[in-house]
Amino acid sequence: MTAISLKNISKSYGSLEVISDINLDIQEGEFVVFVGPSGCGKSTLLRMIAGLEGINSGDLVISGKRANDVPPAERGIAMVFQSYALYPHMNVYDNLAFSLKIARVDKAEIDRRVRVAAEMLQLGPYLKRRPRQLSGGQRQRVAIGRAIVREAGVFLFDEPLSNLDAALRVATRIEIARLKERLADTTMIYVTHDQVEAMTLADRIVVINHGHIEQVGRPVELYDRPKNLFVAGFIGSPA
Ligand code: ADP
Ligand code: MG
Repeated sequence: MTAISLKNISKSYGSLEVISDINLDIQEGEFVVFVGPSGCGKSTLLRMIAGLEGINSGDLVISGKRANDVPPAERGIAMVFQSYALYPHMNVYDNLAFSLKIARVDKAEIDRRVRVAAEMLQLGPYLKRRPRQLSGGQRQRVAIGRAIVREAGVFLFDEPLSNLDAALRVATRIEIARLKERLADTTMIYVTHDQVEAMTLADRIVVINHGHIEQVGRPVELYDRPKNLFVAGFIGSPA
């Protein structure tokens, strides 16, 4: 079933068009990677799906329902940002629990979800620590954990590894790959400008350039048959 459908989506800031007539269907449980150079519109597109940014024209359809005007909290979407934005004065447990407390989820259920997320991300030993007592990779795992506890049907990741050094980037990428296996029914959209992340994580890659889609396909398809030099330069080798 189609989880998210983008139909002729466009977006301008003043006279600058940053997203131009994007059409894309994302299936339930799919891991889709938006890849493209800095400034091509990846974050804008993700933020429109999340409801953090308005849509100028076109339709966003989530689970079969037009969602252009649905408030962010009602979209069934959890987002993981590039900056972790953890609450510095709360320990890891409370960082994970916070959104559920706000949503008045009962205490036993909060505890269950926090422990499931901590187990998935190997954060069990760190639940009592404050963010400043964690490494960058651990902090990013807490940020991912905050999405997991929401038990949303859709996860959006905006360059979650870009603030990590090379070794942590690899370790956290492996963590995300495991998460993809564990949450196989969850639809995931992952934004990056890094082709290695795209090639290793994606079921399908969407190559974006200047606000439009250059090509969509499985990693091997894009690698073997890039449509043009831009895709070739980004994904494969210009044969
Ligand atoms: P990416 O995530 O691919 O690096 P963005 O979606 O952040 O790209 O930005 C796409 C384009 O939109 C860029 O040219 C950026 O400068 C512009 N842009 C993004 N947000 C705003 C905004 N709030 N106001 C004006 N221009 C913006
Ligand atoms: Mg961005």
